[in-house]
Amino acid sequence: MRRKTISFLCILALLFSNISFAAPFDERDELLRKMDAQAQHYGDLSRRIWEFAEVGYKEKQSSELLKTELRNAGFSIQENVGEIPTAFVASYGSGKPVIGILGEYDALPGLSQEDVPEKKARVAGAPGHGCGHNLFGVASAFAAITVKNYLAEKKMSGTIRFYGSPAEEGGGAKIYMARAGVFNDCDTVLAWHPDDKNGASTGTTLANIAAKFKFYGKAAHAAAAPEKGRSSLDAVMLMTHAVDMLREHVPQETRIHYVITNGGSAPNIVPDFAEIYIYARQPSMAVLDDVWARIVKCAQAGALGTDTRVEMELISSVYNLLPNDALASLYDRNLRRAGGLKYTAEEKSFAETLRKTLPLESALPLGSEAEVQPIDAGLGIGSTDVADVSWIVPTAQFGAATWVPGAPAHSWQSTACSGMSIGRKGMMVAAKTLMLSAVDLLTDPKLVEAARTSFNKRRAGFEYKSRVPASQKPPLTYRDKS
Ligand SMILES: [Zn+2]
Ligand SMILES: [Zn+2]
Repeated sequence: MRRKTISFLCILALLFSNISFAAPFDERDELLRKMDAQAQHYGDLSRRIWEFAEVGYKEKQSSELLKTELRNAGFSIQENVGEIPTAFVASYGSGKPVIGILGEYDALPGLSQEDVPEKKARVAGAPGHGCGHNLFGVASAFAAITVKNYLAEKKMSGTIRFYGSPAEEGGGAKIYMARAGVFNDCDTVLAWHPDDKNGASTGTTLANIAAKFKFYGKAAHAAAAPEKGRSSLDAVMLMTHAVDMLREHVPQETRIHYVITNGGSAPNIVPDFAEIYIYARQPSMAVLDDVWARIVKCAQAGALGTDTRVEMELISSVYNLLPNDALASLYDRNLRRAGGLKYTAEEKSFAETLRKTLPLESALPLGSEAEVQPIDAGLGIGSTDVADVSWIVPTAQFGAATWVPGAPAHSWQSTACSGMSIGRKGMMVAAKTLMLSAVDLLTDPKLVEAARTSFNKRRAGFEYKSRVPASQKPPLTYRDKS
């Protein structure tokens, strides 16, 4: 009789061979399936934000789209966070733990691009999503909404938040959001970033100070009365000469770069106004403070040597990222569960054509998008205002392969990928990994504790203090031309 029952069960198992009887039913698989069923909807949202392509602090349509989505899903929305019209916090639930997920949605100037594997602007000179923040914002909102549905269904205590964070590209909104105190009661904050590979990280990023130096001189006819003029452009050039020489005498990992955002209007008028926009970066905030003090002296030298006046407008000052070992392990595990992505024949051909336009010496091969890379402990080459959050609350980010292997951030190639199906598939990997990690943290207090222990160990008693003066307002017009 027993044997008969067993063979009956075997027949049933064969009939339903797609159902595994070996592993116990896991509700997370059900959540992942539900997410797959909504891929089209969230993919469309990411495409709309890609088309809006709004630069820092101008992301009106992009933030409205995400707010509407979250509001309709049952989140309550706190608007105008930190006196920033496009910053918001969407919350659902009550009590501990409080899990935050960061979302970004700003585009980059001048990177407009069609979703084709050749350089072709949609609108010449217009902004584009070269950092994939259209995917960043939507994946994070998608994860938050799925977690909210899970909390509601389970009637669990715990809070899930989506942080709508504008102007990551140099505008530093999270610094002002942090100043408004919106991260203070969080237990952990989760984030990700579009990338050309899937992988968690325990690496840091570069601290970054960014400012505009404005020089004021005296206008005069450049031929008829040059002796009456005092050139603000000369001041900028003298400053850049000093900065270029300074570059040789700073620690190896330091990066200094600038653009001249205003150099006068006509050669026959001595410019009475000129402006330079400059960044300095370093893995250590303390070292960067010293380098920055010397850059300020270069600016003063420019003004002194040309008999002009200089004013500094600090745009942003972000820390280096404080890595979190426990959260990196959690991401690594969940990235493997979410899995990499598989290209269709059409996507593979897109990727092959795109890769012909790229230097590939240090790039992973095609096919690596299906894998998850080992946890990377290297120094990130960029900077992010996520770093300021990471010194306040245990925070970590991972990468998802939204871009063809070898495609760098801030390029026409990454812009193209961010607007088509490869970007959207990578976005699904990110949304699933965020969702799984948030559910793990909400259901296992030990994981929240481990993230806190990693945070305390890495922070080693250091108290975060923003480098932005308390009186400074968010630079809402930093993308405007002077
Ligand atoms: Zn970027
Ligand atoms: Zn970015």
